[in-house]
Amino acid sequence: MAKAMITFVICILMIFQDIMAKPMEEDDAPVRQESIWPNGVVPYTIVSKYEQSEVDIIKDAMDKITKRTSLNGEECIVFKQRDSEENFIQIYHTEGSFVVLGNEEPNAEPNNKCYSRVGMTGKGQPVALGKKCITQGTVMHILLHTLGLWHEESRADRDKYIDIDWSNIQDSHAGNFEALNIEQFDMPYDYDSIMHSTSTSFAKDKKNPTLIPRGDATIGQRIYLSANDINKIRKLYGCKGEKKVVIARPFSV
Ligand SMILES: [Zn+2]
Repeated sequence: MAKAMITFVICILMIFQDIMAKPMEEDDAPVRQESIWPNGVVPYTIVSKYEQSEVDIIKDAMDKITKRTSLNGEECIVFKQRDSEENFIQIYHTEGSFVVLGNEEPNAEPNNKCYSRVGMTGKGQPVALGKKCITQGTVMHILLHTLGLWHEESRADRDKYIDIDWSNIQDSHAGNFEALNIEQFDMPYDYDSIMHSTSTSFAKDKKNPTLIPRGDATIGQRIYLSANDINKIRKLYGCKGEKKVVIARPFSV
């Protein structure tokens, strides 16, 4: 499938998690300059009504990302309540509560889906956090999509590290298993990434895997940011103390 044909990517993880990406043009860098949140600041609004305990989990996940990616005493990624910023995320769990601002409304079932576009796509972009998906690890996974990370198994060299059982993938979701030319910052394949999909993602038969690690590895943890997850975010956003990376960034450090 040509990259230009990929309009969105969907993933199903612990429950239902999807990511939606802006269409990519041929020859574009995988994470484009405009898809990085300027200065690492992600304004957010929570537009659905959540229980306070659920709001606490969402905010704890945000705080954890901020703390883990901080470097040399400086915060690199900050989630803040939206004031009047033009570009922001709208966190919601049911369609009725989502305010469409320049984005098509995603086709989400209430309460059981989580998804985000990859990187900043402009205006009030949707971040669905279905109530059944609200655990700290799953919220961190989704927010790392929002920051610009793709699934680990989407990287171009993944066939060296995992096997894919195409016969067990739901037909309508085969496109989600395409390999993409994603900037990896010279980091090794990371089975431990919180961005790695689970072994039964989009399986027709959930008793059998769609993703099979080569060797003795476990995939799909949703507990912590791996060392490489943290380093990728730091490099993507040029956190202080990091070497300048090849990819263009909209701000200087
Ligand atoms: Zn995902």
